[in-house]
Formats: sequence, C-alpha cells, structure tokens
Amino acid sequence: MNYNITVIPGDGIGPEIVAETRKVLNQIGEKFGHNFTYTEILMGGVSIDATGVPLTKEALDTARNSDSVLLGAIGGNVGKSDWYSLPPHLRPEAGLLAIRKGLNLFTNIRPAVLFPELKDASPLREDIIGDGFDFVVMRELTGGLYFGERNTMIENGIRTATDTLTYDENEIKRIAKWAFTIARKRRRKICSVDKANVLDSSRLWRQVTEEVAKDYPDVELSHMLVDNCAMQLVKDPRQFDVILTENMFGDILSDEASMITGSIGMLASASLGDTKLGLYEPSHGSAPDIAGQNKANPIATILSAAMMLRYSFDLEREAEAVESAVKSVLKKGYRTIDIMSKGMTLVGTKEMGDQISSEI
Ligand code: NAD
Repeated sequence: MNYNITVIPGDGIGPEIVAETRKVLNQIGEKFGHNFTYTEILMGGVSIDATGVPLTKEALDTARNSDSVLLGAIGGNVGKSDWYSLPPHLRPEAGLLAIRKGLNLFTNIRPAVLFPELKDASPLREDIIGDGFDFVVMRELTGGLYFGERNTMIENGIRTATDTLTYDENEIKRIAKWAFTIARKRRRKICSVDKANVLDSSRLWRQVTEEVAKDYPDVELSHMLVDNCAMQLVKDPRQFDVILTENMFGDILSDEASMITGSIGMLASASLGDTKLGLYEPSHGSAPDIAGQNKANPIATILSAAMMLRYSFDLEREAEAVESAVKSVLKKGYRTIDIMSKGMTLVGTKEMGDQISSEI
C-alpha cells in the first residue's frame, strides 16, 4: 500500500528527529511491504524566513491533500532569527494553530506512559508509580479560550484585557465521541475534567459528555474538577485511563502528565479530526538549546509515527512493531542524554534512530 505523508521538519531539533523517524518508517515499509512517500513543507520559523508567514496556503493545501502529516517541532529563536519581534499572528506558533484549524483537527491525544526502564526518571515516589502507568490525555484543540474573542483596552486610564471561553454542544459532542471510541480500545474508563463548580462552559461540557455516554454503556464515565485532577496526577496517576478535557485545561494537564513520566523526549502526540488525516508530532518543542548537536531524543517523534500507523493507516501490527522496537532498545540500555542514567550507553540522535530501525 502507498501512503502519502506530508513532512514538516520545522525548526531547532525538528529536522534531526524527523530524519530518524523517516528512517524507522522506511524500515517498517520494507518489512511489511508498504511504500511511504514524503512531501516536505515549510512551517514555523523556516517558513517565516522563506515566505514571510509561518504557514502558506500552498503548504496547508499540500498537508490537506495527503494521507497524514508528520511534524518535528517549530519555534524558538535559532541562530540570528528574531521571529518573536513579529506580531503574534506571524510568529512560528501561529503556523501550528493555523494547521490545526486548517485541517479541522479538534482532538489532541497525548499518551503518558511510564516505561519500566525509565522509572528512575519520574519525579514521583516509587510507591506512587508502582508498576508504571499508562493513560492518555485527550484535549480539545480548536475551541475554548485560545480561540475566543480577545481584547485589550484602556478604560478610565486602567488597562484591561479580556479573553472569552466559548464551547457549543457540537464541539463537545465530537471530541467526547472520540474519547469513548479510544476508551473502548483501552480500559474503558473516561475521566472528564472541567471546572463545573464555576464555569458555564464546564457545566455544558458535563451535560453533553453525559448525553454522549448513553451510547457507550460499556464505558465508565466520571467527572473531576481540574484543580483536583492536577493534584490526582501526582498523587495517584494509575487511576486514569482516558482524561478528556477542554483546550486550556488540557494544555496544562498534558504538560503535567509529561513531567511525571520523566522525559519530555519520550512523549508522542496525535491530533485528529473527522477523517483519517491526522497530525503527528512529539509533545516537546524545538529545543533550540541542543539543535544541530545530535543530542535530541527522537523517540517521541518515532512513537508519534507509530500512532500515525495506528490511527491514520489502521496498521496495528506495524504500530506495535515500532513500539516494541523502542522498548527493546531501552531494555538494551541505549539512552540519549535526556534519559541517560548510570550504567547505560549514551547515544546521539542518529544512533538512537539506527538502533530502533535495526530492531524492526
Ligand atoms: P522545549 O520542549 O523545546 O525544550 C524544553 C527542554 O527540554 C530543553 O532543555 C530541551 O533541550 C529539552 N528537550 C526537549 N525536547 C527534547 C528531546 N527530544 N530530546 C532531548 N531534550 C529535549 O520547550 P521550550 O524550550 O519551552 O520551547 C522552545 C520552542 O519550542 C519555543 O519557541 C516554543 O514555543 C516551541 N514549542 C513548539 C512546539 C511544537 O512545535 N509543537 C511545542 C512546544 C513548544
């Protein structure tokens, strides 16, 4: 089978980690008889330098017409660039918002998996971690506070800024359906997180998730306030299977979930919409501090590609092959600098990519 993948190397470590991920995908193609064709587009700082905008319409069209999109990372001032003196809508991160909106990607899925080999990297106590944990944070991506109307003004000499948080029932319904679908492939437990004791948008969120739940009687739905969830993630992360939440809460909670796994360089992510076309990228940023030094951990991007195989291409066996290759390389003791510990073998970005490919 032939799959057309739009590739966005982006800025900072993006090109390095994407190159290793292509290596792994090519190996999967060879082993399982698939052909992955890549079309590179510019996004973020490199696009600003070349075109003046963080994402051109042509680049977005290329992504839209492909089977799936693989992104490294964007942003961070690299070298002599000064992308952050530009107005917000022309900065690198605006490209990310534009592609999510342009591809109608309203659901972000971030797995938080603690690999037994990396238990020591978690800041949590051994008795809290137990045998490790494995949950996903599903965050609404295209609505809420980050997309609502905003305004800054001076009234009677006082500077005032306003942001609005709006959700309609359809926006909540479509992500809730995704959450139930994913939960059915997991341990069938959803914890929907909101601030229903204060916010109207959260009270609607709760009502609509309850309504959707009626179609999935085999999945258990519970609700938790966001402040409690922030505490529960460090107190007892093993209680969670699928955490479902709105945009800003999800932004914060998914970063907290990243931290308790110990390494940002290990965390994959997928953004999905109504079709099979998804955007797959590591949870971390462009790490300008280590860019171009063969130090970046490519595993988050490689595991994101595994999610692409699973969700966009329905290639479950191939996805598992990537995941088990990562596990066995970790078991053999190979580590990039971010996950290095005593007695392990330190490798660079390229060597990690080679090791994982050779396990497939
Ligand atoms: P970051 O994730 O880029 O880096 C935080 C720290 O983690 C750094 O010390 C970095 O070296 C390290 N790190 C991150 N990924 C790593 C990897 N794969 N291997 C080894 N170490 C790794 O976060 P930041 O420094 O806050 O952001 C840098 C830029 O990236 C900012 O401009 C930010 O807006 C942007 N960003 C982009 C995305 C994206 O492309 N989706 C996401 C988050 C941040």
